Amino acid sequence: MELYADIIVDITHEKLDRTFQYRIPEVLREQVRVGSMVVVPFGAGNREVTGYCIGITALPSYDRAKIKEIISLKEKGVTAEGKLIQLADFMKNRYGVTMIQALKTVLPVRETVRGIQKRTVRALYNMEELSALYEQLEAKHQSARMRLIRALMEKPELDYEFVTRNLKITAPTLKWMEETGAGRVETSALYRNPVRDTGEEKADFQLSQDQCHIVEQIVSHREEEEPGRYLIHGITGSGKTAVYIELVQRTLERGEQAIVLIPEISLTYQTLRRFYSRFGDKVSVMNSTLSQGEKYDQMQRARSGDIQVIVGPRSALFTPFPKVGLIVIDEEHENSYKSELSPRYHAREVAEEIARIHQADLVLGSATPSLEAYYGAQRGEYQLFELTKRLTGGALPATQIVDLRKELKEGNRSIFSRLLLSKIEDRLAKKEQVLLFLNRRGYTGFISCRSCGQVILCPHCSVSLSLHRDGKLHCHYCGYVQPKVEVCPKCGSPHVLGFKAGTEQVEEKVRQCFPSARVLRMDGDTTRHKNSHGAILSAFGRQEADILVGTQMIVKGHDFPNVTLVGIIAADLSLSEQDFRSGERTFQLLTQAAGRAGRGSTPGEVVIQTYQPEHYSIQMAAAQDYRSFYEREMAYRTLLHYPPAGCMMAVHIYGKEEAGAGRLAQSLTKQAALAVQGGLQVQIMGPGEAGVYKLKDVYHHVIYVKAEERETLLQLKNRMELYREQSWPANDKEFIQFDFL
Ligand code: ADP
Ligand code: ZN
Ligand code: ZN
Repeated sequence: MELYADIIVDITHEKLDRTFQYRIPEVLREQVRVGSMVVVPFGAGNREVTGYCIGITALPSYDRAKIKEIISLKEKGVTAEGKLIQLADFMKNRYGVTMIQALKTVLPVRETVRGIQKRTVRALYNMEELSALYEQLEAKHQSARMRLIRALMEKPELDYEFVTRNLKITAPTLKWMEETGAGRVETSALYRNPVRDTGEEKADFQLSQDQCHIVEQIVSHREEEEPGRYLIHGITGSGKTAVYIELVQRTLERGEQAIVLIPEISLTYQTLRRFYSRFGDKVSVMNSTLSQGEKYDQMQRARSGDIQVIVGPRSALFTPFPKVGLIVIDEEHENSYKSELSPRYHAREVAEEIARIHQADLVLGSATPSLEAYYGAQRGEYQLFELTKRLTGGALPATQIVDLRKELKEGNRSIFSRLLLSKIEDRLAKKEQVLLFLNRRGYTGFISCRSCGQVILCPHCSVSLSLHRDGKLHCHYCGYVQPKVEVCPKCGSPHVLGFKAGTEQVEEKVRQCFPSARVLRMDGDTTRHKNSHGAILSAFGRQEADILVGTQMIVKGHDFPNVTLVGIIAADLSLSEQDFRSGERTFQLLTQAAGRAGRGSTPGEVVIQTYQPEHYSIQMAAAQDYRSFYEREMAYRTLLHYPPAGCMMAVHIYGKEEAGAGRLAQSLTKQAALAVQGGLQVQIMGPGEAGVYKLKDVYHHVIYVKAEERETLLQLKNRMELYREQSWPANDKEFIQFDFL
């Protein structure tokens, strides 16, 4: 049997679809792999060019006689690009996308028209140092240098063009400036070290015994055996970042590179400064404000060895380092590590594969690990480390749960319990700050009983039902529908209602109750503008307000030492999302919110208001008891075969016409049922209307499928795709998307 390789000769985005097939000669059979760099005869003149193998097949795609043969294998090892191609191959199989889609995700985009590089002149001296320098220059009458320094005193960041054209500063003067250390000429200032290393920032502490233990274990395991996978479970402030930094250092000392993922929202000045002050220009930061061109430049710098550490969100995984030695995923449980675009990959899974390809260590860290990671640790796939003590910022806050059912019974219909009101009053008097947190996330339409707290659940899926426009209660997983309940099925109370408090209402109520308090609000509406997020947080940090009201945005990343009270308005909001992960998310949010209280010297307090005070997610979060939470949650997942106890896939059906979308959803469900009859071991739920059924005139249905193995789900996916392709009218009105949950 002959084997053929699909080769791309130009790995740019525009040319990816142009693959050429070559025969693999007998002698190279064992060596040519996906990702190999090969030399092939190209074009009419059979010019020798290099290319990458992106696939191997036994089926020639055209006349066998005309297929040319690979000349030779180019490299001994696999190049950085070759490794990315191997990664794309993994993603293709794992997420069921085409090789081209996968390649487009992992390979850097080269902008066809490169923007002119923006150059700036930036002051590195502070104001005092600049003016001292200016005085010296004045004494020596060095006017060009004086012009430059004066301009930097007025504005520490100057446009290069402005400096050379308007100020008539020449290259030797700029060179002098760089040599004295007063300033620097920067290209693409955005990702160059934006933090001046003043020296004083350098944390001069020794790692604690617990921290050292983790570092030494990981390093020696690697030296003596092989790279490993680790999970560091440690509360915020327990010293995880310090461990990552030490591990990165060790990695660089071995001549390897490191990728550090942190959620975009915690790419704060404080965190970045710690990386910059340790690694200086070896580190680069990636974030969403970079343009495509700047990202591409960064990728080039990574490839050439100009940078050795990258800190960024999930896409930083695709940095083309020649030899990755360490991957860190901080706040591993964060939702933002899951891509919402096809391929809907999870950073954790992709990182595992990169670690395998490069033989790198993988370190996950979290105060509230995802069930997936902790389950992995229980099964020995990850080695677990625990950091249990806060290193700075005092003791953990005291937490109280307030039963809103009791408040109602005793005549308090306000959204604030009496306890929370009195505590806010107390803090205002003491000039301490308060965070009021609404853990609401997007759409909620759940119904619960205000008298006993009972949430109306789907009898089949144990997730909350939601109220739809038709006035009925729907399950988003299995499509179950029932009429709206008028009285509580548990206690008979007529107070069965949807929950409507939003951040605006909370802000309004705060202003009514505390007219003299200064209030800030942060949510999707107030942060639509770029940077307003940071602006609100820093204003609050400067104590320009007494109370900050907001959604989960306010509980991440920032330290407010003067906050001594955190109030959670209704813990039920996230608990009742129509999703099997709602209990986990609630536990995470409550734990994080509680972690915001008392970061300074004064101890903090947390008040959690809820209609379901007995719910384990709330109880265990209040008790800061991750382990008990994990046991309870895992029991629930196991019972109902939800991930990580099983595998689950969502099939999203979109349609521009209501009838067509509905019909396709039905037909695909039927295909699934046929597959089950044929012996495929899956459990089908649905079809059901999606949480947001109609959006921008597109109708959206979902089928959920559970199975023991991922492979089984992929088989069903292929079958459904084939059906859409072959048995459904060729149109662009209906389409399908798959998501592995
Ligand atoms: P985490 O990443 O778990 O939130 P950090 O590494 O940020 O924890 O540490 C929290 C704080 O404690 C930081 O201000 C850090 O500088 C400080 N810190 C970390 N390790 C030590 C140590 N061994 N000794 C003293 N301070 C430390
Ligand atoms: Zn009730
Ligand atoms: Zn259901």
